Amino acid sequence: MVNSMNNIIYSIIVPLYNEAAVLSATYTRIKEVMDSTKENYEIIFVNDGSEDNTRNIAEAICKIDIKIKLLNFSRNFGHQAAITAGMAHSKGSAVVVIDADLQDPPEVILEMIKKWKEGYQVVYGKRAKRENETFFKAFTAGIYYRFLSCMASIDIPVDTGDFRLVDRIVCDILTALPEKNRYIRGLVSWVGFKQTSVEYIRKGRFAGESKYPLRKMIKLALDGITSFSTKPLMFPCYLGTILFFIGMISSTVIAVNNLFLGNPAVNLNLILSITILLFGLLFCSIGIMGQYLGRVFDESKDRPLYILNESTNYNTKEKNKELSI
Ligand code: UDP
Ligand code: MG
Repeated sequence: MVNSMNNIIYSIIVPLYNEAAVLSATYTRIKEVMDSTKENYEIIFVNDGSEDNTRNIAEAICKIDIKIKLLNFSRNFGHQAAITAGMAHSKGSAVVVIDADLQDPPEVILEMIKKWKEGYQVVYGKRAKRENETFFKAFTAGIYYRFLSCMASIDIPVDTGDFRLVDRIVCDILTALPEKNRYIRGLVSWVGFKQTSVEYIRKGRFAGESKYPLRKMIKLALDGITSFSTKPLMFPCYLGTILFFIGMISSTVIAVNNLFLGNPAVNLNLILSITILLFGLLFCSIGIMGQYLGRVFDESKDRPLYILNESTNYNTKEKNKELSI
């Protein structure tokens, strides 16, 4: 009995960035769901450098509930880094990642657990419907996921986020992957194993505002594409070939016009517009290459993904290990 009490079956990872408005409610909902399993679990809050009261609230929860653990980053390292840190410090046989804002209903975890017990090693949440989300977000996300699945060399399911359950073996493999600009939902597909999905309705945020401004959304979207496809690098090649043929045809037409028909047609506006168009395409091509180059540079620096400055409800020995990253 003592042994089974010490064996953690489920680890629930909750990344937190300025989530003071929702944290208590989220804790209560997740705790209710996890208590109903009658199995041992831990909830790992990863405070991703919040500037609001998140840390104090999380510490207060840790004081009253030993099952709750807290990892504090030294600054904001981003959602994907927070998930990775939670996974690296989890003990459960099954590991669930869930957003803090209750957009992913914690009750769905029970369905995921059921699938896991049937033998699936990855159970991802598939958003059947999105409620209370801006048209812009739903529209761009819809287009992006479809674009990514066309580009990617592996099969990344559309309309899935980071709400998922993974088996310990998958969790260990994911944490051991060394890449820096991580797109975890893609990496989970990439590792393989027996995967399935559960559908759910993605709610509106319980409280507070989205912590994913356009800047972070674009970064994540580009990480997804560059991590799983080199097809964009072909864009300059295709473009160059097409423009080369257009150039050949048009210069022949102009030469014939000038030399044989004596008809020198010079339209400055047209020349200017074509020049602007070509410069636009040229800069786009350089930008695409720059995206890949920047990521190669990031990898070569080999800096850690995140820095922990403190943790709560982990024992001292583990704590020392964490502080050294
Ligand atoms: N988050 C984080 N670091 C960040 C941004 C977000 O840990 O830099 C967390 C956030 O607290 C939440 C989850 O990532 O638990 C998803 O963020 P959010 O709900 O704001 O994203 P959205 O649902 O609007 O895409
Ligand atoms: Mg959200």
